[in-house]
Formats: sequence, structure tokens, C-alpha cells
Amino acid sequence: MEKGGSLNFIEKIIRMYRRIDVRIAELSKLHAARLKCRETCCTCCVDDLTVFEVEADVVRHHYPELLETGIPHPEGECAFLDDNGCCRIYAHRPYVCRTQGLPLRWIGEGEGESGDPEMFEYRDICPLNEEGVPIELLDEEACWTLGPAEGEMAAMQQEIDGGRMCRVSLRALFVLKAGSEKACP
Ligand code: SF4
Ligand code: SF4
Repeated sequence: MEKGGSLNFIEKIIRMYRRIDVRIAELSKLHAARLKCRETCCTCCVDDLTVFEVEADVVRHHYPELLETGIPHPEGECAFLDDNGCCRIYAHRPYVCRTQGLPLRWIGEGEGESGDPEMFEYRDICPLNEEGVPIELLDEEACWTLGPAEGEMAAMQQEIDGGRMCRVSLRALFVLKAGSEKACP
């Protein structure tokens, strides 16, 4: 049994990654002309990324040796980068790393003209991928919509951890070994 999780949930997350990757591949093809994402481009591999415990368990399950004996990349960039700027857990990298670079859209609350809260659509893209059709003009279907996958993982996390929504920083995985200290109390 992985800490805070189970093989069953690890498999569920992996199946979700596979499903997501199909859509990401379609969008990557659609936006191939603007995407500058390359193996060693790691500006987006920042040091403050956190994941739900259910995703952390995927990393723990697949990279026990790395977490046990590996040296985290120096602070300031993601702990999982190697000396060449490549991801050491790429095959099982978290969801958030998979959608980086694509035009993103999400629905969130903002202040309406009347001053009351209203729901708006927001969009964003990595500055390196900005060149091309302005993302505001893209069809919804041409963007990755944030929300559904996050909701799916939150539901798994709730189920697995008694309703607690524990998140753990990627860097902390080098310290918090499976079955040791809890990522959150
Ligand atoms: S896990 Fe890999 S892809 Fe994700 S931020 Fe870290 S180095 Fe980058
Ligand atoms: S999202 Fe931006 S920083 Fe990250 S790999 Fe793509 S181009 Fe590079």
C-alpha cells in the first residue's frame, strides 16, 4: 500500500493520464506551429508545484530508488529536473506538467460591471507559446479546459484520504518517503 493511497488509485490516475494524453496530443498537433515546448525547455518547471497525494503516490510507486537515493535538483527549479534540464519522472509526471504549454481556459469568479461577483472565462498560455492567433480568438475546443481533470483527482483524493484534501510539494517527495511522515497533518 502506498502512503495515503493504493495501487487501485494509482492505476486510476494512470488511466486518467492516458486519456488526457490523447486529447493533449490532438491539441499539440493543432497548435504545433506555435508550441515551443521541447525536452530541455524547463522554464515552466518551477519549484512550488504541489499535487494531491493520489498523484504523489504515482511518483512514489514508480520512482522509489530516485526518491530514496536521488539528489533533488537545486532549489529554484523543480526538484525532479536533472542536470540537463530534463524531467527525471517524465513518463509519470503529474497532470499539471502535461498541459503546460497549451492554450488554457477556465471558468472563475471575477467582479462584474455592477461590482457583484460573476463568472468569467479566463485564458492563458506560456509566454514562449504566445506567438500566433491570439488565444482569446481560439475556439473553446482548441483550448485545454481546466476543471474536469482537477475535479476527477479531487474526488479520488477525497475518497482515499477520508475527505482531507492533502497536497504535497514535488520537492517534499524526496523527504516524505512512502509510509513515513504525513504531507499534511
Ligand atoms: S515533474 Fe518534471 S515536468 Fe513536472 S515540473 Fe518537475 S521536472 Fe517539470
Ligand atoms: S510551456 Fe513554455 S516553458 Fe514549458 S516547455 Fe513549453 S515552451 Fe517551454
